[in-house]
Amino acid sequence: MVMLKVENLKVKAEDKEILKDINLIVDDGELHVVMGPNGSGKSTLALTIAGHPKYQVIDGRIIFDVEDITNLPPEERVRRGVFLSFQHPVEVEGVKVIQFLQRVLKNLKNLDEIQAYEIIFAAVQELGLDDSILTRFLNVGFSGGERKKLEMLQAYLVKPKLLILDEPDSGVDVDSLKMIASVINKLHEGGTSILLITHYGRILEHLKPNRVHVIKEGKIVASGGVELVKIIEEKGFAAVEAV
Ligand code: ADP
Ligand code: MG
Ligand code: MG
Repeated sequence: MVMLKVENLKVKAEDKEILKDINLIVDDGELHVVMGPNGSGKSTLALTIAGHPKYQVIDGRIIFDVEDITNLPPEERVRRGVFLSFQHPVEVEGVKVIQFLQRVLKNLKNLDEIQAYEIIFAAVQELGLDDSILTRFLNVGFSGGERKKLEMLQAYLVKPKLLILDEPDSGVDVDSLKMIASVINKLHEGGTSILLITHYGRILEHLKPNRVHVIKEGKIVASGGVELVKIIEEKGFAAVEAV
């Protein structure tokens, strides 16, 4: 079954056409990787699927789980099972991580505070996180690696139908990278469809993607298996122009 279908998608922001004609199908439970040089439109694609108001769809559509979500507000997409990890998460002084996660689980899964607490605590143990993270204020003073870990914990708790990760591997150390990869693998094994955007192939050493897409100047210029990653690693993005 198709989980995400992006059809002839053209997107602009502030009068600049960014995505030209994107076509992409992610089946139920598949892990797809999107790679591309800086400025090729990777984040725009992620944010458009999530419904960010800055990005205007000028042609084409986004089908999620048989429904056209092209014009749905972001919170409605979240409610239907789309989860986007943000490159720049917000800091909230006064809200503790545990309270934030309890709220997320209450809203999306109808869990009460105690049920949510138990699930959160178990997940922290399972993922090998330090439980002191739960009593800190949301993202305040968090290192890049800690922010990413928190996002992955959140994704793991939510267990979305579709997880979109925008460069979760940027600027993190080896241990954080392994934790991030392990959450991706656990969710993938549990049936979540995943769209993973990355600039480097490093994280892919820990993953088994079903398909790899290369995006350049707002277009997908190549789709294939992990062999594409090898070509990019060895010869750069220029080498996949005509694949
Ligand atoms: P990537 O994530 O692949 O590095 P982006 O999707 O962030 O690329 O950006 C693609 C292009 O679109 C870049 O040239 C960028 O400057 C431009 N762009 C992205 N967001 C906006 C925006 N909100 N307004 C105007 N231009 C944008
Ligand atoms: Mg980006
Ligand atoms: Mg069209």
